[in-house]
Amino acid sequence: MSETKTLKQYSADVIVCGGGVAGLPAALAAAREGMRVIVVEKGARIGGAPVNNLIQCFCGRPFHGICLELIRKMKALSQDYMYGFEPRSQTKNCFRTGDYVVAWRQMLAGLPIQIFTEQEVKRAVLRADGGIERVETDTAAFQGKAYIDATGDAALAALTACKLAMGREARSQYGEPFAPEKADGAVQRCTLMYVLRRRRENEYGPAPNWAEYSNEEYLMWGPTVVVKNPLDAEEMSEATQKAYDLFLEQQKEWEEKGFFVADVAPRLGVRETRRIVGNHVLNARELLNGVRFPDAVTVVRDTAIDPWDPDGNPFHDQDKQEACLLKPYEIPYASMVTDAVPNMVVAGRCISATHIVNSSLRVMPLCMATGQAAGIAASIASAAEGNALKIDVRLLREKLTEAGVRVSADSGKDMFEG
Ligand SMILES: Cc1cc2nc3c(=O)[nH]c(=O)nc-3n(C[C@H](O)[C@H](O)[C@H](O)COP(=O)(O)OP(=O)(O)OC[C@H]3O[C@@H](n4cnc5c(N)ncnc54)[C@H](O)[C@@H]3O)c2cc1C
Repeated sequence: MSETKTLKQYSADVIVCGGGVAGLPAALAAAREGMRVIVVEKGARIGGAPVNNLIQCFCGRPFHGICLELIRKMKALSQDYMYGFEPRSQTKNCFRTGDYVVAWRQMLAGLPIQIFTEQEVKRAVLRADGGIERVETDTAAFQGKAYIDATGDAALAALTACKLAMGREARSQYGEPFAPEKADGAVQRCTLMYVLRRRRENEYGPAPNWAEYSNEEYLMWGPTVVVKNPLDAEEMSEATQKAYDLFLEQQKEWEEKGFFVADVAPRLGVRETRRIVGNHVLNARELLNGVRFPDAVTVVRDTAIDPWDPDGNPFHDQDKQEACLLKPYEIPYASMVTDAVPNMVVAGRCISATHIVNSSLRVMPLCMATGQAAGIAASIASAAEGNALKIDVRLLREKLTEAGVRVSADSGKDMFEG
């Protein structure tokens, strides 16, 4: 007997795999388009990196669309802790995971979105044309017209015929200035995040030189370790142990300076794993040359090339710093789809880009923007047989613009700052 027959069956218009930073805007955007949506999340809580890895700081701009809505909700919830979201100031862009979760729950409430947690997508049943018929976890099967891979790891794409990439390419492959001569597949390093709080008797003591949310709490980019393949359980277990050994040393030092650890990330933070090789692979030459795309779904501003050098070398030395700060660039829809899987749209850090570009576009406001675009694209597709490759991209861009997203790098002054 086929295992599928014992699985509970669910269906919706749009199935979002991964309820994280990109997945939630995708689900919200699709539901606002009138779609019935299912979110399948492997963790116990929705939210992605801010929940799983304690990433509590928005880098990159603009804040627009659903990202801006979320920021406004969080601000309203936690006036005392938020200094506000101002451009070009790392210390002003922090939030607390609790506010992030509450804000998301408020935004998702009352919409036709069914959320399944502790459900890891492990199998995909494919159609003859390579499209997805349904996805399966250990206990359930989910069927939709269009599917969104917002797993960060391209976990859904990996179950299809979609081509995948991981780590550093050779410089010759895309002519990228910062790529190594030879491809080595190395990925950005992993970091254990934690939050420090000032002890009362240390009220006027010096602060740690890191992002802060208030005069009392500090978000810390903690021990950072090299992991060859973060998808390998044994390697991750060893790396986590190593990070915790280092963390305990840091904790002792902070204790002596008058701080205590208020929170530690549930998991070692993984910046990079697999990404899709989609219909367009966004590369650093395009970013540096300011290439514009007719199918752009979001502009990207105020980000750097930030690859957390896999070899552990500091990338931000003085020479490279300037080159790292990129001018506004665009993310094309073609980097979110592949001909190999007609009814799948990809969002978040696993969209189609090189290792170098991934190090720039992986920041959360941009993952949210591709998530919102994926949700609308999947809705347009869902209304027409689910084919995400044949949607009217002009309509997608119009809908995004109506929803407050800035899709073009040339549309003048940024009016969407929070
Ligand atoms: C240490 C570290 C520091 C960072 N610092 C910053 C920063 O300061 N500012 C910033 O803007 N960005 C930062 N980032 C980057 C940012 O957090 C991530 O790139 C971004 O969250 C990626 O969004 P995503 O939706 O693609 O993935 P995620 O937010 O990770 O969401 C993916 C979701 O999919 C789920 N999932 C995975 N596989 C499956 C499956 N098979 N089935 C079902 N669900 C699945 C996961 O559980 C998760 O909830 C940092 C990242 C790290 C690791």
